[in-house]
Amino acid sequence: MLRAKLWVTPAHRPLLALMAACVAAVLPACGQQQSAGEPLVIYSSRNEQLIKPLLDQYASETDQAIELVTGKEGPLLQRMRAEGDQSPADLLLTVDAGNLWKAADDGLLRPLDDATLEQRIPPHLRDPQGRWFGLSVRARTIAYSTERVQTDALSTYAALGEPQWDGRLCLRTSKKVYNQSLVAMMIAAKGEDIAQATVESWVANLATEPFANDTAVLKAIAAGQCDVGIVNSYYFGRLQREADELPVALFWPNQAEGLGEARGVHVNVSGAGITKAADQFDAALALLRWLASAEAQAGFAGDNLEYPANPAVEPVPQVQAWGDFVPSLINVSTAGRLQADAVKLMERAGYR
Ligand code: FE
Repeated sequence: MLRAKLWVTPAHRPLLALMAACVAAVLPACGQQQSAGEPLVIYSSRNEQLIKPLLDQYASETDQAIELVTGKEGPLLQRMRAEGDQSPADLLLTVDAGNLWKAADDGLLRPLDDATLEQRIPPHLRDPQGRWFGLSVRARTIAYSTERVQTDALSTYAALGEPQWDGRLCLRTSKKVYNQSLVAMMIAAKGEDIAQATVESWVANLATEPFANDTAVLKAIAAGQCDVGIVNSYYFGRLQREADELPVALFWPNQAEGLGEARGVHVNVSGAGITKAADQFDAALALLRWLASAEAQAGFAGDNLEYPANPAVEPVPQVQAWGDFVPSLINVSTAGRLQADAVKLMERAGYR
């Protein structure tokens, strides 16, 4: 059984904990069945519709009670910090390695040395200290107009700063962690000077002010407001499902060696880590292993049109149809480590 909660105010927590303790105290049988009775608490910034069906499945298969608390990543992390050791959260589930890195850096997650998780999730998609593990992969790649762009004009992220794209580029705002992670990875690959020159050249090519989200970028390309942009692959997938004939396609940049840029498409993850405050460690680990397993991965990634982090699992057919690509193998935790530098760099480059 799954109790989905949008929010429980922190003020109610001590009372709930006290009530739970009292129930356990007066009913000795509760002690023996603690794992079945006491819910595993998940704090999640992932869209509830995406994660709940999978958690329902796990709850019914294992008889593990789960309490899902969902919220925006910023407030959720703030809440965990405020709750400290008293936090009811056992597992944190969120998007973007930048957010996962932040949670780990704030000391909110517990390092794991778990052979099962390490076997299921490749090294570049998890924290080197085992504090979080990527569970689905999103590619941040180039989207282009199939009506006005020939693919042989496209090559790399940096090449979107070439004069041929003057007034033809659309970008999402630099305020979103996705672009901060992209720029952080560019710093890791080629250093600050080259990364800044690239971002400046993008800004010079913008067709219009940066958009609030990736879907707006895709719609602007479809509508002819611009011809190329940078988006997360699943937003393209969502739009594809809505529109019969979308005059937009995805291009995989940085595929060849010797382009003067790091090889591979920029990828990021959604992922999870066990909290330091977890009092249900074993149950949290069991669920985390299951989310990384072949059984859960197809649904976990597929429901949001992402790529499974577990390489033993194929993406869903719609995603497979976008074609294969060489991903960047730089550890995604780099996105967090260099995030503050990326924010400053974008500011200097005039990227709003
Ligand atoms: Fe997103």
